[in-house]
Amino acid sequence: MEIRWDSLVGHKDQIKELRTLLQEKRLPHALLFTGAAGLGKKLCGQILAGAILCGQENAPCGQCENCRSFAAAAHPDYYELTPEVRGKSTRIIRIEAIREMQTVVSRSAVRAGRRVVLIDDADTMNEPAANSLLKTLEEPEGQVTFILIAQDRSRLLPTIVSRCMPLSFGRLSPEELQEELVRRQMPTLEAEKLAYLADGSLGQALKLSQHGGLELREEAMEFLAGLPQFTMNKLWVEAAAKGELDRERLIEWLMHLNMLLRDMLLLYADGASPLLYNGDLREKLGELLPQFSRSRLFAMLTETRELLHRLQANVNLRLQLEGYFIRLMDSLKG
Ligand SMILES: [Zn+2]
Repeated sequence: MEIRWDSLVGHKDQIKELRTLLQEKRLPHALLFTGAAGLGKKLCGQILAGAILCGQENAPCGQCENCRSFAAAAHPDYYELTPEVRGKSTRIIRIEAIREMQTVVSRSAVRAGRRVVLIDDADTMNEPAANSLLKTLEEPEGQVTFILIAQDRSRLLPTIVSRCMPLSFGRLSPEELQEELVRRQMPTLEAEKLAYLADGSLGQALKLSQHGGLELREEAMEFLAGLPQFTMNKLWVEAAAKGELDRERLIEWLMHLNMLLRDMLLLYADGASPLLYNGDLREKLGELLPQFSRSRLFAMLTETRELLHRLQANVNLRLQLEGYFIRLMDSLKG
């Protein structure tokens, strides 16, 4: 693992603030990093943890014993807590996991003179877990720094939030994303497209490129272009084919559809809008507009978001898709 501040992409202000607090020995004992998925919050937390444990000038120095064992994921004073995964989409942190952490943390530090606990996806704590953590944050024993990572601050107990120094992570600019993708050996043209599609998230951009993101986008575009001419028979065939995809790919396909529909709505307002996710498809999307009125696009967007929401639960894919396609066609005729 690279534990250097400059391995983080973007977030210059946040890094500066953390380094200053660290140098001036004013770092609070609990911090909360919030922001969308894939922005580098966790990596930032890990680098901060490494820096705290290092304790040298310009920490993490990368040379000392603390840094070396941290990089080898073997530092005895670092504790990382991640949610347990249940089924396909449920992630949860239970009180048992918090208690286990508390037991370890109550012992004194082995090497670095202080301990660091990183809790990833802290917003997946259930209530007993959160209440138990709260007690520790209120009366910390010994030298411990807590770094909580969460996407959604509103899903945390307000009493926990109020005990942490908040640091929010904004989305990366398309330029920052593109630069990083090119640095990772992606061809410039592909990097440029993905940078716009990924909505400011490096994690999302990498995910899209791994899963043949542009290919799925192509499929969503073809589907959209063909939809006005669909027959009932074609519709069943499509629903069956999409029902064969694994859930994650299906969700990505729907997210592309969602972005394409949103772009078409934007084009209604301003044909030259710079806000399109799919800027390179501006012309093609513009040609489709006559077949999709504004109100129909709205109806289709609502249906698509609803289906995305339902797919988070364990539902029968095929049935959901058939219902969805029928409603899409209805909204086109409506
Ligand atoms: Zn060091």
